[in-house]
Amino acid sequence: MERTERAGWRWGPGRLLDLAYPPRCEACGTGLSHGRCLCPACYGALPRLQEPFCQRCGEPFEGRIDGRFDCPNCSRLSFSFEFARPAMVWDEVTRGLIHQLKYHRAIHLAGELGRLAAEGLDDPRFTDALAGGWPLVPVPVHRTRLRHRHFNQAAEIARGVATHSGLPVVAALGRIRRTDTQTRLSRKERLKNLTGAFALSAAGHRWLAHSTAGVIVVDDVLTTGSTVEACAATLRAGGCQRVQVLTAMRG
Ligand SMILES: [Zn+2]
Ligand SMILES: [Zn+2]
Repeated sequence: MERTERAGWRWGPGRLLDLAYPPRCEACGTGLSHGRCLCPACYGALPRLQEPFCQRCGEPFEGRIDGRFDCPNCSRLSFSFEFARPAMVWDEVTRGLIHQLKYHRAIHLAGELGRLAAEGLDDPRFTDALAGGWPLVPVPVHRTRLRHRHFNQAAEIARGVATHSGLPVVAALGRIRRTDTQTRLSRKERLKNLTGAFALSAAGHRWLAHSTAGVIVVDDVLTTGSTVEACAATLRAGGCQRVQVLTAMRG
């Protein structure tokens, strides 16, 4: 098991009750008012994704760049989604939050991560999605993985985003094939690994019969973008006209 080394970062095995109802800030241990997992100072200090960043994948860039640009990686590729917008960048605190949510079932963090992800909707490129009430579509996990983890972190984050944006959540996709773990694969290998992994769910078919205007695919972390690309391709093949992507953080 991995431990984050930050001083005051209070993860540990004896905190089951705290995990259910954390009375203290997850990052610094300060006492909290009801319903939050991070104190205002720690929440405010989380590293938001800031300009300049790639207009496709959200990869941040050092220095000044005028106008819109794609990173060298994305400018060589074509995508089924218009853009992916992470709300935060990777650091040990954001990584710790995701890790706790995903591998230690710290489900109470999903609301906080959803609130953070919802900040990404301030990006003006989401204007049509917000005005049109596009649904939030969580990246699905395969049922065998759900059996171990008991919840889908992307769905939980999407629920938090819904609370703060008013957009509906529609579980429009299902994972029909289990994929091997992607961590060590290249983008090309990942895409191959993901081919045929997703399909429209009954809810997805119902939604697209009602509206094909667009959807926002939601995930916890964006790394190579191949997972959301496979989801976007499935939605587009099902008749969805536009797909945008929102994630809590950039991996
Ligand atoms: Zn704090
Ligand atoms: Zn890029």
